[in-house]
Amino acid sequence: GDVSRSPKSIREERARHLSPNLSLSYAEPLKIVRGEGQYLYTEQGEEYLDMVNNVCHVGHCHPRVVAAATGQMPVLNTNTRYMHDNIVNYARELLATFPDSLEVCFFTNSGSEANDLALRLSQNYTGQKDMLIVDHAYHGNLTSLIDLSPYKFNRKGGKGCPDHVKICPMPDGYRGSVKWDDPDCGEKYADMAIEQLEALQKQGRKPAAFIAESLLGCGGQIVLPDGYLKRVYGAVRSAGGLCIADEVQVGFGRIGSHMWGFELQDVVPDIVTLGKPIGNGHPLGAVITTRAVADAFFNGMEYFNTFGGNPVSCAIGREVLQVIRDERLQHNAGKVGQHILDGLTEMMDLYPLIGEVRGRGLFIGAELVYDRDTLEPATAEASKVVNFMKERNILLSTDGPLDNVVKIKPPVCFTMENADQFLKEFDDCMAVISQA
Ligand code: PMP
Repeated sequence: GDVSRSPKSIREERARHLSPNLSLSYAEPLKIVRGEGQYLYTEQGEEYLDMVNNVCHVGHCHPRVVAAATGQMPVLNTNTRYMHDNIVNYARELLATFPDSLEVCFFTNSGSEANDLALRLSQNYTGQKDMLIVDHAYHGNLTSLIDLSPYKFNRKGGKGCPDHVKICPMPDGYRGSVKWDDPDCGEKYADMAIEQLEALQKQGRKPAAFIAESLLGCGGQIVLPDGYLKRVYGAVRSAGGLCIADEVQVGFGRIGSHMWGFELQDVVPDIVTLGKPIGNGHPLGAVITTRAVADAFFNGMEYFNTFGGNPVSCAIGREVLQVIRDERLQHNAGKVGQHILDGLTEMMDLYPLIGEVRGRGLFIGAELVYDRDTLEPATAEASKVVNFMKERNILLSTDGPLDNVVKIKPPVCFTMENADQFLKEFDDCMAVISQA
């Protein structure tokens, strides 16, 4: 068989045969060859605690998920034009986790495909093209979604905001113009979104949809202020548009208190998009919508997706759902996440570098700043923290518009012991970095 390549050889082969715009994490990239639960292992057997991977949601290579895949793979894998139990059984169980009005699902192969379909569904239903989005959002790698992703189109290599898109300010009560302690924080940010809607209407146009993550991931782990989505959704619907919740990063119980992030905002979207954790690493995505939106899409043109909804993917997706339930992982995410949030918040007294700690469940961000008044972003320090923690065998990443937010989103099987280990090492890391 193939001999194992050295890191140097892999980098050379990547340079030779892969596109240079695939990046590697960390100053010294890792060669990981095995995963189990919340742990990743190098060839030498060195163990890393994975606090980055929100895709392998119930744990890397979860035995039940692996068994679901390897049970179905030798039997049958086809497209959806034959009748099969798996797709209907899975659809029924997935839909049971949503409010009653969300009663139809489409299966795709990625979060991007799910969001592209959501876009098509909303444009078809409304007969409109224009979209309202939230600043700094990322919704996927398809051409249609780069257009909806300021995280791409307004950064290096991007071509700016397209004509059919209006950007609503990010409801960030830390850095934005309205602060969290303003009792009308949510309403005020909603009004800024409504201003964008009105700007569209002044041009004689109407929205197809408003799309937002239910908690902002690439925006820097931001929990939406109370009342925000309710007010924006109301205005968008009055203007004839639909409301799309992108749950690709935050869904499936990660936030602890609820299965879905939009539930925090007491709203029911017209369309919800799912990805990443849905297949625990297997390429799977889904769009959940109302009967009315789905039926309007049935206009004579078939929706065909070669791989979407195949028996293997559906067996895997269903097993992931059952593992979340059987292992009470949503509850675990809430409990362990709160412990991390509390620990980090306590550290703010010791380390002025930590400007804000925020999140829900195991979806957490620590925003680093040089100055708590000017909020000058400590981007270099955030990168140092991540590399320092990696030397202590704990994997983290950074995100946010200024790339100064330490992002925490481990598999939801993360334990209290893992959390304590993280907090101890993070404390140590902050002490070292604060002294330097
Ligand atoms: N939406 C959000 C919020 C995401 O974070 C991502 C992936 N980072 C996507 C959509 C796109 O998903 P995928 O990479 O599976 O196409």
